[in-house]
Amino acid sequence: AKRAGRGRYRFFDPSLNVADVQEFYLEQAFGEALAKHQFVLHYQPQIDLDSMSVTGYEALVRWKHPDFGLIYPDRFISIAERSGFIIGLGEEVIALACRQLAAWGDEGLDTRVAVNVSAIQLSQPHFSSMVLRQLAETGVETWRLELEITETAILEKESMAIASLETLRAAGLGVSLDDFGSGYAGFAHLQSLPVNKLKIDRGLIAQLSNSHDDSLIVSFTITLAKRLSLRVVAEGVETAEQLVYLRLAGCDLVQGYHFSRPMPAEQVAEFERGFHAT
Ligand code: C2E
Ligand code: CA
Ligand code: CA
Ligand code: CA
Repeated sequence: AKRAGRGRYRFFDPSLNVADVQEFYLEQAFGEALAKHQFVLHYQPQIDLDSMSVTGYEALVRWKHPDFGLIYPDRFISIAERSGFIIGLGEEVIALACRQLAAWGDEGLDTRVAVNVSAIQLSQPHFSSMVLRQLAETGVETWRLELEITETAILEKESMAIASLETLRAAGLGVSLDDFGSGYAGFAHLQSLPVNKLKIDRGLIAQLSNSHDDSLIVSFTITLAKRLSLRVVAEGVETAEQLVYLRLAGCDLVQGYHFSRPMPAEQVAEFERGFHAT
């Protein structure tokens, strides 16, 4: 109620603080930012632990603001969701990912890109046709694009979201369940969701060496996911110690600062050359 009130009377509220002003400013600036293509994607590699090769990249959006420099998504995604701009932004993100995949394909780099999709995007009736159209327009094979979705995004708008994801899975796209184990781990639904991958939240990975309980949850999650024929990705891997644990536990893929921070597309070819050389 506080948030709704603050949003509604923001204009006339004498107690406006810096965060409110920033939020108001960003909201106003979104339209121009989209029109001027100020959003860019940075790419973080996902590494297969069996072959020790890069199998794909997660695309993470950044706002290249002409005055403020690079703005990270934690600052603007929730504002974009509240103001409805997430629809336009989400479409731009998918367009950027498809164009990058097409460009990499031309250079001989055969890879995949996973994009984050917000619940609001997923609840749009034309979401699946928009995605398939973008893939067709850029000539990118469907299996190269993956969607990262949180469990609440699927369950909140149940029928629409599930129908869209089933359409896209049938068309060949991958779908990952993101942030698994943040808050609560929804083991009960796992079997019935239209996903083929599970991403273990970096909050759990960070606790691997501190918390016995969290280590058990990670091991159990990996075991259960395999029984359900899901691929398992650990995100936020920062240390060699975490890597050893995850390998022993049977994790399939890892992603994190231990290998690379998210990087601009121009740095990806060089990263791949360096990675294969080591
Ligand atoms: P996420 O999907 O959980 O993405 C992982 C976040 O962890 C990214 O932050 C990434 O840069 C960061 N990260 C990766 N490896 C490590 C590590 O080893 N250690 C630590 N401490 N952090 C690591 P980023 O890029 O700031 O993105 C934050 C969140 O914003 C994402 O969390 C995702 O929920 C959202 N987001 C990013 N791009 C998009 C987008 O295009 N659309 C939507 N709807 N949301 C996005
Ligand atoms: Ca993600
Ligand atoms: Ca996460
Ligand atoms: Ca394996």
